[in-house]
Order: sequence, then C-alpha cells, then structure tokens
Amino acid sequence: MQYFKSLEHIKNSYNGRICQIADYKRSGKKLVGTFCLFVPDEIIFASGANRVILCGGRNDTVAIAEQYLPRNICPLVKSSFGSIINDGCSGVRSCSHFGMVDMIIAENTCDSKKKMYEILNDYVPTHVIDLPQRPDGSTAFNYFLQELDKFKNAMEMLTGNVVTDELLAKEIRSSNEIRELFHRIYEFRKEDPPPISGTDVLKVLQKQYFLSSEEIKKILYMLINEIEMVKQDERGKPGKPRIMITGCPMSGGNTKVPDMIESRGGVIVAEESCTGTRSFWDLVDESKEPMVALAERYIKIPCSCMSPNLRRIDNILELARDFKVDGVVYYTLQFCHGYNIEKHKVQQALRKAGIPMLFVETDYSSADVEQIGIRVDAFMEMLS
Ligand code: SF4
Ligand code: SF4
Repeated sequence: MQYFKSLEHIKNSYNGRICQIADYKRSGKKLVGTFCLFVPDEIIFASGANRVILCGGRNDTVAIAEQYLPRNICPLVKSSFGSIINDGCSGVRSCSHFGMVDMIIAENTCDSKKKMYEILNDYVPTHVIDLPQRPDGSTAFNYFLQELDKFKNAMEMLTGNVVTDELLAKEIRSSNEIRELFHRIYEFRKEDPPPISGTDVLKVLQKQYFLSSEEIKKILYMLINEIEMVKQDERGKPGKPRIMITGCPMSGGNTKVPDMIESRGGVIVAEESCTGTRSFWDLVDESKEPMVALAERYIKIPCSCMSPNLRRIDNILELARDFKVDGVVYYTLQFCHGYNIEKHKVQQALRKAGIPMLFVETDYSSADVEQIGIRVDAFMEMLS
C-alpha cells in the first residue's frame, strides 16, 4: 500500500503533543480528559480548555487494571484504567497526559465505564453527563439539553470563562470542518481499489482526539493532497473483497483485527464505530441556536448503550450500499454486552440485505490471532 508522509507525522506526534499540553498547562489553562463521543468537544473548546482522550488501546496495562477491577469487563475499560493507575510511566502514578488533566468529563453509557468513573473521581474531579437511554423518547431531548447545560456550567466554573453562543458557533464551525475533511477521505474509499488502506485511515481516526484541532486539520489537508496524487498503478489490485467493520471502538494502539483483514486479502472501506463514521458523519447544524444544535447532533450517536438503537442498523445498511461493501466484520470486545447482544439484530438486517457477516469477539492480547486469522481467511475466500 501507499506510503503517506502525513501518516509518518501522525505516528511521531506523541511527544510534540505532550510538550504542547505541558506548555499550555504552564500558561494556566485547563485540560480535561474524556472517554466517549457523547461529550461535545465544542463546549470544552469554547470554554478555553483543551482536551485529551483517555481511552486505552494497549494490552500491557490490562494486567495492572486486573489487580483492582474484575477480569470480566471489557479490555478498553481495563486498559484505560490500567494506564491511569500505572506508576511506571511518569512517576506521578498515572499516564503522562492523565497526570495533567484537571477534570474528567464522563458520561453514563455502559456499566463498566459508569463504575470506573466513580473510582476515577477519587483521582481527579469527574463530571458525569447523564444520557437519556431511550433517545427517541418524548422527554429525552430536553433532558439531554439540560445535561449539556450543566456540563457547560461545569466548564465555566473550571475555566472561569463564559461560554457564549459566539464562541460555541466558532467551535462548531471548526469541528464541522474536521468532519467535512473526514468525509472527503471517506469519498476516496468508495473507489476500487481505494487509494488508502483501512488501517491507515484508522490510525488517523484514532489520533484525532489526541491531537489539537489545528494539528489534526493540518494533517487531514496534507493527507487529502497526498491521496489526490496517488496514481492508479500505485494502488494495488482492484477487486479485493471490500469490508466494512462495525462494532466497538478501536482505541489508539489497537489495530489487531484491521491488520488481519488487510494482510489476508481484504480491503477495509468503512468503519461503523466510534473510531469511524460515528465520530464525524453528522455535522452540527450551524443555522440553529448552538446548544440546541449540539444536543440534536450528539443525541443521535448510535451507541449500543441506547435502546432501541435502530438508527445504527439503518446507518450500517446505508454505508454498506454507498461503499459497495462485500462483507461486514462485526467486531466486539469481550464482555462488551451492548455490542455483543446487538449483533443479533445487525446480523438479521444484513442477512435480509444479502450481505455476509463475520463475527469476531476478541481482546487486546495476541493469543487468538491465529484462530481469528483462520476465520478471516475463510471469510475472504468466500467473498472472493
Ligand atoms: S461505543 Fe458508546 S460508550 Fe463507547 S465511545 Fe462510542 S458512544 Fe461512547
Ligand atoms: S467497548 Fe463496550 S463495554 Fe467497553 S467501554 Fe465501550 S461500550 Fe463499554
């Protein structure tokens, strides 16, 4: 596959970003940590604060977490918690960016995260946004809007700044610009063969919440320019099975299953997940009152914590059609009950649409790589 300089830049961005955050903190500004797409960045940035995502995608911190938490919760929660309480990384009994966070902005989604937030509150003040679990219910929207107002107040208290509609409108435009850039990258993926691999796109998606908005925009513009320069004969063979991944998020450091798919003959053309389309697909309506527009956009995120979550099935079918998907890999993390159970309805819908699906339930270890690889091989062969 093609080599992109912009991706090299992303790969090497960690140290630069940590120094940038440290400088930012030294200037007296506030930093918050988040774990979920339901937290609107626009409100954080409009308050003058900055944000890092704290979701863990590494396996080496799972064992540390298991000294405190039950083994039978999802690896994302264990990895996140393990890196936070690990004292080997920065000497401040936490990972380097967690050590700089002034507040965590959490959300009531799955049980494991909810309970983890109660523990994290002992380390750093944690504000929890309560989510209506039935997003289409008659009282859900107003309830969510009130919760976003409380979150805005919490940010104002933390920073001492007033979050005005003008500041929110500016941040909404900025975040929409990032969303539009991701849409442009996804447009390229409709081609056969796509000029960029799924694993490369995933790495950018994973980093979008770690880097500053300005940095990620710069990288996305650079990447789009580079993709436009890729010639047809540099793209590899057309006709490879076109795969969509759907399910749990793949946090930074975790590319296990995409790597397997693309090294075994498939090409990933779309991801219906929080490290995929859910992070950017819907824009915030810039013609509306900012808080209302934010609530409208964020309440629609089709997370399996919501019930019913039929919007997700509609999105999967629409993406499968638009990206000419040959097969879907339904990816879940062990003990993620929401996505594991929701598999049933997704499978029914895909079966009806005549789209084959492979179910992969895994963790962050490499113990099952061979066994999953055999199943991926068989799936690719069936699709070829
Ligand atoms: S899957 Fe749900 S809980 Fe996890 S990041 Fe996405 S919206 Fe949040
Ligand atoms: S992967 Fe599932 S169980 Fe894990 S944090 Fe996300 S929603 Fe919760």
